Amino acid sequence: MPPYFHPRPVNGPFEDPGLFIPFLFEKRAILFDLGDLYSLSPKDILKISHVFVTHTHMDHFVGFDRLLRLLLGRDKNLFLYGPEGFFKNVEGKLAGYSWNLVQNYTNRFILVVSEVHPGYILTRQYPCRTQFKQDGQTHVTAFEGKLLDEPSLSVSTVILDHNIPCLGFCLQERFHININKTRVESMGLPMGPWLNDFKQALYQNKSPDFIFELPMLIEEKEKRFFKLGDLASEIAIISPGQKVTYITDVVFSEENIASIIRFAKDSDHLFIEASFLDKHRDIAGKKFHLTALQAGSLARKAGAKALAVFHFSPRYAGKADILEKEAMEAFYGLT
Ligand SMILES: [Zn+2]
Ligand SMILES: [Zn+2]
Repeated sequence: MPPYFHPRPVNGPFEDPGLFIPFLFEKRAILFDLGDLYSLSPKDILKISHVFVTHTHMDHFVGFDRLLRLLLGRDKNLFLYGPEGFFKNVEGKLAGYSWNLVQNYTNRFILVVSEVHPGYILTRQYPCRTQFKQDGQTHVTAFEGKLLDEPSLSVSTVILDHNIPCLGFCLQERFHININKTRVESMGLPMGPWLNDFKQALYQNKSPDFIFELPMLIEEKEKRFFKLGDLASEIAIISPGQKVTYITDVVFSEENIASIIRFAKDSDHLFIEASFLDKHRDIAGKKFHLTALQAGSLARKAGAKALAVFHFSPRYAGKADILEKEAMEAFYGLT
């Protein structure tokens, strides 16, 4: 059954952290962390609709310029989320360039930036055509864990401690719809973009009696109509949704441990930093990072189905396998 999300690390485990998550059959992706993006193609970067930044240490935010440069001429809103102080960081980046020519642009590219605080979220808009000066008021909304809530998916966050606030992120599919291709073909219907509209109708909880209209097909003179419920029982297989969790740059404190285990509970994929070997746990603690053993044991306690570790310290260059081994042994309960 093909999953809806296809998470893949942007870089190798010794390079800047980041997780690129394209969506199946859609020209859309989201990005967790904004470090060096040069290994992503422009085509992939242009798919990004939402970027979630854990914190603004350089290795997590230096990709802002490349993202902005590629999206500058586009007719879209780019949504960016980060922790307390994020406006200052974004505004500082924008202040680093001259924007005297952008008012000639005909597109309406807008940066929509949100700053996550305990209990509330602040949002500001920075339109390209006004030289990225803040447009309008700062909006305040209540924050109860979710940053993005769409019919088919949500993105949640948790505020963790890295000596500064650092966000963890979780992408959750509400439920998974698999299409029975053989059945579609035996009904004389083509595979195609109409299936996305069909899935969206299911995610929007439309009534089973809702009349779903198939677009006119090349060889047909008339549109075809189905009751949504009838079509679903013919071609859709529903299963639990995927959960992808991303945790990095966190100290191994009692509070973080409890928050991470709760937040990452039953993840299908848990991506978590493992910066140091456990024999160097004192250094890890001083730098507010996890060891591989700590990462593996957190994944085990959260009941994650799959674990991937990253953000390895350069002191282990060429020895990624020993960090992976330590994390996996803790994950499988061998230590
Ligand atoms: Zn950091
Ligand atoms: Zn880092």
